[in-house]
Amino acid sequence: MSRFWSDIVHRLTPYVPGEQPTLKHPIKLNTNENPYPPSPRVVDAIRRELGDDGASLRKYPDPTARALREAVAAHHGLRVEQVFAGNGSDEVLAHAFQALLKRDKPIRFPEITYSFYPVYARLYGVEFEAIPLDADFAVDIDAYRAPNGGVLLPNPNAPTGRALPLAAIEALLRANVDVPVIVDEAYVDFGAESAVSMIDAYPNLLVVQTTSKARSLAGLRVGFAFGDAALIEALTRVKDSFNSYPLDRLAQVAALASYEDRAWFEESCGKVVASRERLTARLQALRFEVVPSAANFLFATHPAHDAAALAAALRKREVFVRHFRLPRIEQHLRISIGTDAECNALVMALREIVGA
Ligand code: PMP
Repeated sequence: MSRFWSDIVHRLTPYVPGEQPTLKHPIKLNTNENPYPPSPRVVDAIRRELGDDGASLRKYPDPTARALREAVAAHHGLRVEQVFAGNGSDEVLAHAFQALLKRDKPIRFPEITYSFYPVYARLYGVEFEAIPLDADFAVDIDAYRAPNGGVLLPNPNAPTGRALPLAAIEALLRANVDVPVIVDEAYVDFGAESAVSMIDAYPNLLVVQTTSKARSLAGLRVGFAFGDAALIEALTRVKDSFNSYPLDRLAQVAALASYEDRAWFEESCGKVVASRERLTARLQALRFEVVPSAANFLFATHPAHDAAALAAALRKREVFVRHFRLPRIEQHLRISIGTDAECNALVMALREIVGA
């Protein structure tokens, strides 16, 4: 605390990201990163952009990330005006709070969800109502019918991994035609249906995606929003009042290269999904209850072992998972899907701990 702080700084409760351990070889299953390296084309593109002497770095990047947005637009069957690019989907979401969600009524999002949402809401003075999940940790869309100032929903949700079918998203859009509906699809490629196909039909729909998960580029920081050109223009106006160059040169060429390698993408998503199904069965064999997941992580609880104690015991064995000390989920662990070797190490450690 300092007398030099702006007033608002005293009132912020910043988001706490998962631990980045300094150990040499941690089994790191705590921040939903992809366990596989990105497409080799990504690495080639960065090398090409750097050249021998890195001279390209002298110059500012394209402030509009036009080539990247065009490639991603083509990938999704959209026009370039329907695509916004930002420094990770976190930044895209932050701009969306400021550009679209500050309204005369509170917005709604799930009570158990990505914990950055209430942080942005407080930063930007956006009023919100957190809507409880149902008994099975599913989102009940009937609780999101207008009147409200807007709706924000991850699909699949985090940290539960549960997905809604597209028909439910469409019902949500129909019930909220006069307010923005933002669907955060950070994990969509691991088993949910994307709402991108409904963008032309619903001018209130903004879909947010990231290269951090299914494209294995969390360290690059590239995220997108897709929607009606007017929604994208609102985000661009905020961006250009904040940082004209959010995506550096290397990020732009590397993200573009990743969209050119469909085979890598499909293979790596397939591997993660197969590992998720195997890990689910193995955790169930250790008596864990596992929420059905369409994401690259599992949300699980053990009837006889305290979740915080389990996380601590795993940590001692250099296995990192995420535990949230929050009402209703304090007995759950969120476990990212690792390589087969990492999943094995997790299961071995859990066998020791729960004594199976
Ligand atoms: N949305 C959700 C639901 C997430 O879990 C995450 C990752 N923590 C993000 C958005 C942000 O991802 P990134 O900024 O890496 O694109």
